[in-house]
Amino acid sequence: MKLSHKWLSMTILPLILGISSIIGCSSTDTTDTINSETSNSNNQEETNDQDQLDITVSIIPQKYFVKKIGGDRVDVNVMVEPGVTPHTYEPKPQQLQALSEAEAYIATGVPFEKVWMDRISQANPEMLTVDSSEGIEKLTMVDHDHGHDDHGHDHNHNEEESNLDPHVWLSPRLVKIQAQKIYETLVELDPKYQETYQTNLDNFLQEIDELDNKIRNNLANLEQRKFIVFHPAWGYFAEEYNLTQVPVEVGGQEPSAAELSNLIKEAKTENIKVIFAQPELSSQSAETIAKEINGEVLLISPLGQDWSDNLLEVSQTFAKALKEDNN
Ligand code: ZN
Repeated sequence: MKLSHKWLSMTILPLILGISSIIGCSSTDTTDTINSETSNSNNQEETNDQDQLDITVSIIPQKYFVKKIGGDRVDVNVMVEPGVTPHTYEPKPQQLQALSEAEAYIATGVPFEKVWMDRISQANPEMLTVDSSEGIEKLTMVDHDHGHDDHGHDHNHNEEESNLDPHVWLSPRLVKIQAQKIYETLVELDPKYQETYQTNLDNFLQEIDELDNKIRNNLANLEQRKFIVFHPAWGYFAEEYNLTQVPVEVGGQEPSAAELSNLIKEAKTENIKVIFAQPELSSQSAETIAKEINGEVLLISPLGQDWSDNLLEVSQTFAKALKEDNN
């Protein structure tokens, strides 16, 4: 990734437009606070480090989920490092090697898993592998289809399945399903602590309900409910909260000039002032649109470390931006 270029455009463009960008999450967040209510809630013997379950997950938000349910009993390793997207990520050889220590790999249906799952399993045949997105009915990934002129993008990927939206961790309702699956996995590995995991699961489900209520409140009574975003990660979120996501990307790529000009027209017609992008992806076209509509680019991350706080913050950012759009 061209980091310097990205930072340059992120730093300079807002200055030109006289606006500010919001970074969805800070990479210095720690997960220390996550365990606070889960430590030693039963009176079984003290756990020591050797006794912990080693769980590997694909993406950062899953670490939050597994820690919520596993507490001190689990040590969670994440494959996709901060700042990288699971769409382009490839495991490093030492990451595959490190899987020999893992008791379980909890997948979530992100694209790299399809290519790598066999090799991940082979790296440790003893390891339990589960997909926590199993049982979730997936949406089709939206592509905006303005114009539909032939400009060389590869819209038809090999399998129909590859067009399913993998971003199931961005809907609180769907995270409840994933939490249940994670709970079952931990109980299967470690039945002695079933009661602890059950208590932790109940607490987490309650946290999710509270978060869902807050998000609903933040997004209530907005007249403008349509937003433009570079990478369409927010399909499940939009569906849950009655928003409409308009993607800039086409089939995972920057749009053509014609598509870009259609988006600019749409933004002007709809009086949209904010284009969303994410810190993990450089998005020149989002900046181009913002400039053309005399608006701004705001960054929201689908991969925030503190999942609850991040989603709450995103809902506040949406609410503020959509209100501005309408003025
Ligand atoms: Zn994505």
